[in-house]
Amino acid sequence: MANLSPTRRISLWISSLLPSCEDVARLVSDSHERPLGWQHRVTVRVHFAVCIWCRRYARQLRLLSEVLRRHTPDTSPDSPHLPEAARERLKQAVRGAQE
Ligand SMILES: [Zn+2]
Repeated sequence: MANLSPTRRISLWISSLLPSCEDVARLVSDSHERPLGWQHRVTVRVHFAVCIWCRRYARQLRLLSEVLRRHTPDTSPDSPHLPEAARERLKQAVRGAQE
């Protein structure tokens, strides 16, 4: 440490204050499951300012999540999209009521 330049020392000191990439990756993953508290959001933002790898990881995770959401059928009772079998039963019920 004695041979390091002042700039390198400051850089190492700042790095020691930041969370590790592992910590940030875990927070980014958690953010897809539940909202993060403001401290964690700030931590992630500050880390993103200096780490392109975590920004890329977050972007890839967001894209993956979006693709999965688009291609996963919503079968919840509140879904505006009925499953095909339910749609067919409704059509038959309406036809039966009209006859
Ligand atoms: Zn990182």
